[in-house]
Amino acid sequence: LDVRWLAKNGGLTPNADCTLRWASGASIGYGVDSHSVTLSYSYPFSDGRRGIEQRIELDRTRCNYGGARPWFRCPRCWRRVAIIYLYGWPSCRACARLVYPSQSEDECGRSWRRTRKLEDRLSGGASQWNWRRPRKMRRKTFERLVKAYLREEDLRDDLLAVFAARYMHLL
Ligand SMILES: [Zn+2]
Repeated sequence: LDVRWLAKNGGLTPNADCTLRWASGASIGYGVDSHSVTLSYSYPFSDGRRGIEQRIELDRTRCNYGGARPWFRCPRCWRRVAIIYLYGWPSCRACARLVYPSQSEDECGRSWRRTRKLEDRLSGGASQWNWRRPRKMRRKTFERLVKAYLREEDLRDDLLAVFAARYMHLL
């Protein structure tokens, strides 16, 4: 479930409960208030199908280009993520420990290495980058690095989408 897709389609406007449906036939119950979305669905665990209901906090970071970028907070690790995976309990990609298909493993690994390098530069010596521009960095440089960072993120999401599509019927 992609927060950017929801934002684009008006899915972050507080509303009554509704159902999101995928072309595969999968569907989840979905409600949203100003700070969170609540997901409810059933999932076939190894010991049988169980109902899941989970609140996902929403967060927003200001963009350099105006407006705000929405994020999910992973309910397990609290990291800001664009996509929440619904394999079992909802969580981010890292917490879901998804295995990438072998043909895109290398490509994905290279993307992560590029991302780590970008994060190193963007953090400006701090332990973790918090989406702010380091004081000594020029705005132009910062914007270029953020764009590159988001491109890597999209690339990995595309790689994963191919993989995830094969598993959607499990929902
Ligand atoms: Zn997580």
